[in-house]
Amino acid sequence: MPEAAGLEDLPRTPMRESRDDMKTPPADPCEFCEGHVEHRMVRARFNYKGQTIYIDGVPAWVCTRCGEQYFDALVFKHMEEIARHSDRITRTVAFPLAEYDKVPV
Ligand SMILES: [Zn+2]
Repeated sequence: MPEAAGLEDLPRTPMRESRDDMKTPPADPCEFCEGHVEHRMVRARFNYKGQTIYIDGVPAWVCTRCGEQYFDALVFKHMEEIARHSDRITRTVAFPLAEYDKVPV
């Protein structure tokens, strides 16, 4: 009779323990609206030396309510690296940009 390891024999990892391995959001809840912050890949808006650049595929913590983006310190450092090396900028995209708070209500 072969010894089949049933699921019962496997060590169970309590949810609480595995959650400790997860990165902790820099802000949860959101500092601005108390909304829930979740981990997502985003197109990050990043200001570098007075220039606004966008970086795609950045792991960020995003508020599901107000959309505020938070970055881990390491991620932020990496974005600075990318901004510093302008050859990493693959293409320039143009899009209409309005400033919400500059529009008279
Ligand atoms: Zn928020």
